[in-house]
Amino acid sequence: MKIVIIGAGISGLSLAYFLLEKDPSIDLTVIESEKKAGGKIWTDKADGFICEGGVNGFLDNRPKTLELSGKLGLSPLRSNDNARKRFIFSDGKLKMLPESPLSFFKSDLLSLYGRLRIVWELFVPKGSNKDETLADFARRRLGKEAYEKLIDPMASGIFAGDPEKMSLKSCFPKVYNLEQNYGGLIKGMMKLQKEVKKTGKKVGAGPGGVLTSFYNGMGTLINSLTDFLGSRLHTGLQAVSIDKNNDIYTIQLSDGSKIDSEIIISTIPAFALSEVTKELDKSLSNLLNTIYYPSISVVCLGFKKEKIKHPLDGFGFLIPYREGRKILGTLWDSSVFPNRAPEGYVLLRTMLGGARMSELAEQDEEKQINLVMDELNKIMNIKADPDLRKVFIHKKGIPQYFINHDSKLEKIDRILKNFKGFYITGNAFKGIGVNDCIENSSKLAERIIKDI
Ligand SMILES: Cc1cc2nc3c(=O)[nH]c(=O)nc-3n(C[C@H](O)[C@H](O)[C@H](O)COP(=O)(O)OP(=O)(O)OC[C@H]3O[C@@H](n4cnc5c(N)ncnc54)[C@H](O)[C@@H]3O)c2cc1C
Repeated sequence: MKIVIIGAGISGLSLAYFLLEKDPSIDLTVIESEKKAGGKIWTDKADGFICEGGVNGFLDNRPKTLELSGKLGLSPLRSNDNARKRFIFSDGKLKMLPESPLSFFKSDLLSLYGRLRIVWELFVPKGSNKDETLADFARRRLGKEAYEKLIDPMASGIFAGDPEKMSLKSCFPKVYNLEQNYGGLIKGMMKLQKEVKKTGKKVGAGPGGVLTSFYNGMGTLINSLTDFLGSRLHTGLQAVSIDKNNDIYTIQLSDGSKIDSEIIISTIPAFALSEVTKELDKSLSNLLNTIYYPSISVVCLGFKKEKIKHPLDGFGFLIPYREGRKILGTLWDSSVFPNRAPEGYVLLRTMLGGARMSELAEQDEEKQINLVMDELNKIMNIKADPDLRKVFIHKKGIPQYFINHDSKLEKIDRILKNFKGFYITGNAFKGIGVNDCIENSSKLAERIIKDI
């Protein structure tokens, strides 16, 4: 059986692995437009630094990524205890995010009213089951202050998103289900805690888990999958269009060649697939094109340790939009993983762009570096010149699940029913993180094997 996968980010590569694991006799081809596989996983080594140009890691509380790593013979590397110490830049200062409910009530991150308003969540009636923006949900259940100071920066950290447009149901399905199943967040979490005590099984609603990567960065996973696939992977080759005749799909490739297959799977970004499917099905192409992708960039700056007065004793910080800063946040990578900077140096990774400031991530590299240095001076009092500067620009880099994303997916699924043997996955649809991508690829591999 012949199968073609388009796109070799972690979705495409892991899907290829799972398919071959189930049936090694599959005649599999993976097509990737860039010279190198990996997509948003992009580890760069320079002058003794390990810079993650995209994905920084994954949480170890969901098994699939760890399982896949184990099968490939890789040893995951957990972040150290610093990773639990997170900061928010709030009211012009870096403030530690409390780690427990008790320390939360003692902290000055929210006003007394803001803290009490969170407790009042217990008495907020259950909302309807209709989708809602993250901002509306958070204001309704937790109050305006908690929304602006806590929930908004969290949305930046995960989606680089705009909570006024993000779908609660699609971006945070576990949180949506807490309200639907238990009537509220605090009530739901208390019930889940009881279940954990009773069954010993972890059923948390929040992100939880420990940030995990590999000694040489996330690129380790990509290199291993690439080695596994060998000559089945073709890089520097773009899928330009798809045509269908009887039950056979023909993919037109950028080098002028064509490839025929009864089964094709797209793992490329929605806007790229929209372009590729223009001739195949206009309504599918139009729907895919409505998924918005702002640009995002990662600016890695390395400094001699002695130049930085701040102890960098934590994971880094996120910034609520209300602070009016031009960066989304900065992660203190060398404090969290052992070898991200050479001895005597530190590495700071700053994110800019996203749904509310996309244009900042599209500026030329020098401008981005200057902007980040200016912001780090204002926020952390860092005045020194960096010893390492690296900018990783992801133009149209991160998909946004806007309100009613789920009904868009239903329409896409309905159209795909007319295209037997054509499957779609990737981070634009049902989960944005590496864990989601790998879980979805694993499920899809099972479905395809059943179908054939
Ligand atoms: C800056 C940044 C940081 C992130 N950090 C994290 C993190 O720390 N943890 C986490 O869990 N998630 C993170 N994410 C989310 C991350 O995007 C996903 O988890 C995951 O890497 C996406 O994988 P994918 O394979 O679905 O898509 P992609 O990685 O986008 O892969 C799609 C591939 O398709 C290729 N392609 C496109 N068009 C064509 C075509 N026409 N023909 C052939 N090939 C094509 C692309 O070149 C690309 O390689 C981050 C995202 C960004 C942008």
